[in-house]
Amino acid sequence: MALTHNLGFPRIGTRRELKFALEDYWKPKTTADDLLNTAKHLRQQNWQTQADLDYAPVGDFSLYDHVLDMSFTLGHLPERVQGLKGSELDHYFRVARGRSPADCGCGIAAGEMTKWFDTNYHYIVPEVSEDTAFSLNNQRLLDQIAEARSAGVSPKPVIIGPVTYLWLCKAREGDDRLQLLERLLPVYGQLLDQLADLGVDWVQVDEPVLVTELDADWKAALETAYHALKGSRSKLLLTTYFGTLAENLQQACNLPVAGLHIDAVRGKQDVQAVVDWLPPHKVLSLGVIDGRNIWKTDLNGLLEWLTPVHDKLGDRLWLAPSCSLIHVPVDLALESDLDPEIRSWLAFATQKLDELRVLKSALNEGTDAVAGPLADNARAIASRRASGRVNNPDIRQQVQAITPELGQRKSPYSIRANKQAQHLKLPRYPTTTIGSFPQTTDIRKSRLAYRKQEISREHYVTTMKTEIERAIREQEKLGLDVLVHGEAERNDMVEYFGEQLEGYIFTRFGWVQSYGSRCVKPPILYGDIHRPGPMTVEWIAYARSLTDKPLKGMLTGPVTILNWSFVRDDQPRRDTAFQLALAIRQEVLDLEAAGVNIIQIDEAALREGLPLRRSQWQDYLDWAIDAFRITANGVKDTTQIHTHMCYSEFNDIIEDIARMDADVITIETSRSAMELLDVFEAFRYPNEIGPGVYDIHSPNIPSRDQIVSLMSKAAERVPAERLWVNPDCGLKTRQWEEVIPALENMVAAARELREAA
Ligand code: GLN
Ligand code: ZN
Repeated sequence: MALTHNLGFPRIGTRRELKFALEDYWKPKTTADDLLNTAKHLRQQNWQTQADLDYAPVGDFSLYDHVLDMSFTLGHLPERVQGLKGSELDHYFRVARGRSPADCGCGIAAGEMTKWFDTNYHYIVPEVSEDTAFSLNNQRLLDQIAEARSAGVSPKPVIIGPVTYLWLCKAREGDDRLQLLERLLPVYGQLLDQLADLGVDWVQVDEPVLVTELDADWKAALETAYHALKGSRSKLLLTTYFGTLAENLQQACNLPVAGLHIDAVRGKQDVQAVVDWLPPHKVLSLGVIDGRNIWKTDLNGLLEWLTPVHDKLGDRLWLAPSCSLIHVPVDLALESDLDPEIRSWLAFATQKLDELRVLKSALNEGTDAVAGPLADNARAIASRRASGRVNNPDIRQQVQAITPELGQRKSPYSIRANKQAQHLKLPRYPTTTIGSFPQTTDIRKSRLAYRKQEISREHYVTTMKTEIERAIREQEKLGLDVLVHGEAERNDMVEYFGEQLEGYIFTRFGWVQSYGSRCVKPPILYGDIHRPGPMTVEWIAYARSLTDKPLKGMLTGPVTILNWSFVRDDQPRRDTAFQLALAIRQEVLDLEAAGVNIIQIDEAALREGLPLRRSQWQDYLDWAIDAFRITANGVKDTTQIHTHMCYSEFNDIIEDIARMDADVITIETSRSAMELLDVFEAFRYPNEIGPGVYDIHSPNIPSRDQIVSLMSKAAERVPAERLWVNPDCGLKTRQWEEVIPALENMVAAARELREAA
């Protein structure tokens, strides 16, 4: 008899109830009790949805972040919040969000956030030093186990394993995280004791580090940890996800625990070896339902593959989603407006659990017991495979026909640079912005009204054009050298393009937590990508007509569109990226034909797409950069291509960045005193660079002197004739009152630098 369980369920709620409860509490419009009641209600709902699983996760719910929860469980808070007055909830949000001096008499920096493995979820990085101490604070988990039991589910507490926990920490410079293991393990021991005292059967111990490349120290730490915890009276389910175990497979099989969960979607190739290697007393949990995308599972195909595994393992086989379901939206049932055909191909978290139930019945009772659901599933899978909306032979033919020449500019950079200089006649230290100007309340209101069909298209267009004109006039007044149209018409840099491409659909409630109360609603790329017509030309050409100054057109690049969407699982990501590249290439050429001779192609998410294992980086970078080049490189030598990236870690990918061969790259550097340009210097990066001179995330207005000083530092590393002056990123989240003085100072700084040169 195969058992079913789940690794984690979305906590934001079907209608983002948690987000709104948090924001009301922070305002503060509501009390802590109100917030905690909403949280309790959401947990109850989630357990109801999971009630018939053999084990439901407990402790996966979080008010903000499950890593921060674990830090609290381990009594591990950053020094800067220790000893402050207030409740535990106050401390929790202080670490999560920081506090301004006005709030608590003392400013507190928020904990640093970073990406959870290769997902778009961000966690609060625990900070450690050699002095860090831990002490158990297990009430949250204990309370929730009681809650779960009264909700009628079999609780399986979820914790982050000690090795992954340390791996997620950031150590003070010179300190070694692994030194802390010895201090940490007794706390885990106590934690497991308390769970066993409550009669907990199984504990899910997440160790996703096992799908990454681990050096000997980390592998040894896993041995130490699990030998130390071997005495646990509750059984431990060592849980891995997001990839293949590969060279860690034997170790994962042999650590002294009672069971192992593996990602049988991304790590499908491991399954046979694990079945062979796993000691006969251990349970094997196979994550067969993809927790990272929104497609229905091919249940009939899966059953064929699973049946022999089930025959061999019997009761030792457990079934689950591949990873926690927090990476997918909650419930497809809410999407009543969605195209019914495409909807029939989808499964969100709730539906993924339904799939699990069907699988379980089919294995345990025979396929006849679930003949209806299996037949429905087969129909949906067949309809998706055969759909003319998914497969467009023309597009596939165009991707097949891609040659290296398509990604090749006509001349090398040095020649282009001369031609562009003659053509554009820009001063030294040219000033520009990254694309967006403030998205004012008027802009948002007008977009909403247009969506709701309360105003006509004409009315909407006029409003947007007024905003574009305003942005142009402000930039002229400021004396910027290269203007932009300001992106008033864009709700979001991916959605805007997705909405105009065939092959995309959008959900209404398909929210996924990004961090804390922040959610994103990734569009769904379901079919071959086709651009029915120009997407941006109307707006940018209008801006072009308003001014004689150089104007830069704005597009989002193929890799970013790919990485911020749910994409199809029936072809390699590379093929999807190339389809997007061909579509946006057409847009680039249309802009050029409309007289726009500077074009920026944003690739904010290029780095995010890097695979977990370094050994797979090159393959990704090769096609990702090809996709960019295909998009960008059809233009004339005199057309200047820009790209923009919102981060600054280029150390390990500088060669690839150089291969993009954009004439100008603008990057985020202001927070690092330009040290991040060192790698461009060392690599002798040949093209032009705009290192961001002010942090657009902060309302602070940079002074002219600050900007001059940053640019002088930049000029020590990159020849001045190849430097641009610009902010870090787009200005859409700022107010005009902040933007104008900041840009005035920026322009003044550039003038000062020119005069000094
Ligand atoms: N052009 C976009 C903007 O200015 C870039 C946004 C981004 O890099 N995240 O808003
Ligand atoms: Zn950016």
